[in-house]
Amino acid sequence: MTRSPQIGTTPLLFPTTEPDARLYTSRIAGSKAAALLTLSGMGAPVPPGFVLPTALMGAQACSDGQMPVALAAALAEGLKSLESQGGRRLGDPNDPLLVSLRFSSPIALPWTPRTVLNLGLTPAGVPALARRLGDPAAAWNALARLVRGHARQVMELSEEGFDELQEAALEREGVESPHELSPPAIEALTKGYLELYQQLAGRPLPDQPLEQIHSATLAFLRFWNSPVCSDYRWEHGLDDTEGPALIVQSTVYGTGPKASGTGRMVTRMPSTGEKKPHGQYLPQAQGPDLTAGIRMTEPIGALKSHSPEAYGSLLEWGKTLEQKYRDAVELRFTVENGALWLLDCRPAQRTPKASLRMALDLHGEGICDEARALTLVQPLVVEEYMHPVLDTSTSPPLLTKGLPASPGSAVGQVVFFAEHAVELAARGIKTILVRHETTPEDIDGLKVAEGIITMHGGLTSHAAVVARGMGKCCIVSASEITINYLINEMTVGERTVNKQDWISMNGTSGEIYLGQLPQVQPPLNDDLATVLEWADKHRTLGVYANADTPVDASKAVEMGAGGIGLCRTEHMFFPIDRIPAFRKMILANNKTSRTAALAELMPLQRKDFLELFRVMQGRPVTIRLLDPPLNEFLPRGIRSQSRMAKAMGIPVEEVQKRTEHLTENNPMMGHRGCRLAVTYPEIYAMQVRAIVEAACIVKKEGVDVKPEIMVPLVSTPGELRLLRQEIQTLIDQVFIELGETVGIRIGTMIETPRAAMNSRAIAHWADFYSFGTNDLTQMGYGFSRDDAGMFLPTYLEKGILKEDPFVQLDQHGIGHMVQIAVTEGRKGNTGLKIGICGEHGGDPESVKFCHRLGLDYVSCSPFRIPVARLAAGQAAVAQRESAHD
Ligand code: PEP
Ligand code: MG
Repeated sequence: MTRSPQIGTTPLLFPTTEPDARLYTSRIAGSKAAALLTLSGMGAPVPPGFVLPTALMGAQACSDGQMPVALAAALAEGLKSLESQGGRRLGDPNDPLLVSLRFSSPIALPWTPRTVLNLGLTPAGVPALARRLGDPAAAWNALARLVRGHARQVMELSEEGFDELQEAALEREGVESPHELSPPAIEALTKGYLELYQQLAGRPLPDQPLEQIHSATLAFLRFWNSPVCSDYRWEHGLDDTEGPALIVQSTVYGTGPKASGTGRMVTRMPSTGEKKPHGQYLPQAQGPDLTAGIRMTEPIGALKSHSPEAYGSLLEWGKTLEQKYRDAVELRFTVENGALWLLDCRPAQRTPKASLRMALDLHGEGICDEARALTLVQPLVVEEYMHPVLDTSTSPPLLTKGLPASPGSAVGQVVFFAEHAVELAARGIKTILVRHETTPEDIDGLKVAEGIITMHGGLTSHAAVVARGMGKCCIVSASEITINYLINEMTVGERTVNKQDWISMNGTSGEIYLGQLPQVQPPLNDDLATVLEWADKHRTLGVYANADTPVDASKAVEMGAGGIGLCRTEHMFFPIDRIPAFRKMILANNKTSRTAALAELMPLQRKDFLELFRVMQGRPVTIRLLDPPLNEFLPRGIRSQSRMAKAMGIPVEEVQKRTEHLTENNPMMGHRGCRLAVTYPEIYAMQVRAIVEAACIVKKEGVDVKPEIMVPLVSTPGELRLLRQEIQTLIDQVFIELGETVGIRIGTMIETPRAAMNSRAIAHWADFYSFGTNDLTQMGYGFSRDDAGMFLPTYLEKGILKEDPFVQLDQHGIGHMVQIAVTEGRKGNTGLKIGICGEHGGDPESVKFCHRLGLDYVSCSPFRIPVARLAAGQAAVAQRESAHD
């Protein structure tokens, strides 16, 4: 096991030969400082400095804006060593020590304060600095940076006035950037900045170096303690006692008279992953100029001609650091008079495709082992290789955008009714079904359409869930579309699209185009197969599929599913040849006629299960008993109601009356799930009989079979106790009738907050749990799955939510309920098998969370299985690695 240094509160000095320097982690020193300490411990050329560690900073509250005594003492101690190390003193009029102050956060923040450069410089120190740099203009420029940095970061003054002064100075001299200004011009500009600073701040720039450093330190603490940052920290599991780290580091000048400049280099191409240095270089500049966008940067190769030695050394350090971090790296550097100084080292950015190439190359070159390489692959790459993409090279006109609900692309003729999709499909015509929203009634159209677009609905709406299950491209919440069903047309602003006009859609970005764009299928990728093999070797989490039909089940097995985690049996009732019997059951006035209608359905269900069990060959098959409210099975419009009445030979009024009777104000919280079985036991009885008979028949054929019967929407132990007893009695009865027995688990979904909170008592009646995180998210937040599309995009835009909670499991709220339910559930039943079957089961971050909670499996649509396998493998490796830290 690796030794970890103690978390201390004294400054950590560098350069250092202290071997511990290589072991500091982000938690102790923040990510930037941890990298600097590591570099320093390896003997890399790092400008001398010291780190105030997180434990020290966290202990310092700064509510009154005063410098805490302990922090002042630590700064004094660090600065003293820095002075004795480099021979320069703060405020020395002949050769002042200048430092930069950098923020180093233990967690990745969406925004961090920018580095304040050249602290310790005052107008009185400029001549000495000019002598040292051999360039008065560079010395004034250094002061100008300090004034602006202090104004922005410490005093929070507007930059506008400073920009105006700079613009005027550049214009007067006809140059592009401040470093080209003549010495008198940059001196005048800097003095103008100082005056403006005093005017806006109501006091001059502190002329005591220590006061400059203290005020900047307090500003960084103020940022850390701001309400926004505090919320963010809390969300990411840092408590109030944990602080950021600060780096105080002697300034190096990329503005020296000999070869000087600043830049960044990545060791491999971020776009392709190719092993080739890439980056930018800016001569005569200090660090922040690189990203300021004022001056044009040069490619990194320019450094080779500018300073071959510094370039050679940079490449060497790139290689060494790849070995150290077992990854491609990005280096930030400054060259001062031909000498290379490294300022930062971080993982190189990369596209998902580049991440795959880098992982395999780093492994192939012996830089990292298979487990490490596995963690370097971005899960998004799986989706990129699995679905055909639209060729938009001709820049086609964009019609509109919606939420990307199911990835890939589709090209087809627009239809507005499921039956039109079926009609056209029968003639071999490709269609895209566009609806306000879809309902289970549209299933036949959904099956044949190439893609689905809805105006309403969120990412777990009916259309989204069904499309993902089918691996079909889908866009929801395309709210700019207006559909006129009567005349079969839709409009977007001025544009009108009629039935059978061609459109093309990108389910990965949510873009919809007019016309028939070409599609490109990415070639099957062997590299991906290799990485998935690694993932399977390392993962401990099972990956099952949400699959309702034998076709889905075969696809799931092909994709590597270890079982079926959710078979939504309601989907078996919607096909045209079955829905009449089901509707007859719904229209039945009494138990006898309901049972008779169900008896018609039983052999059909049994056949479905027979086929499923045969395909799954001994893998667990979790069958969920009926869940949706019955009104979902009845037609809504008068046209469809009349058709149904005609087919059943009953007056349309009867259909309308029953529909009205079953209509609920809030069906998602209404008469559905296990509540249906409490009121109509015969429905589940039919389904259980079909399952058990099918299992016995298949077993007699010699096929191993592992059915698991799952009860949805339980909230109390009483519901499950009652239903379990009924199910078990029926199972035993069928065993006697058929003279066969099969091991059958009976379990429940945990998808209401009450069930999660009462997990220990419920677990007593369950052999397994499957978290229905779609409903749990819906009920936990009180966000309707079908209507959240109306406001969630704005929540994301305004930063209230970072991710759509229907896509990525909200670990702090809903996930916390899951965590409690897991812990309590295992107390109630030590042998409880636990999985998740909400849409989150195919989302990489959620899969990793499930691994950390110790779940047994995740279940997702067949097309998301590879990505779940990859994420599960990565989670296992990450956990093992952190146990060794
Ligand atoms: C769930 O609620 O997470 C779930 C899987 O069930 P459904 O989406 O069918 O409601
Ligand atoms: Mg549910």
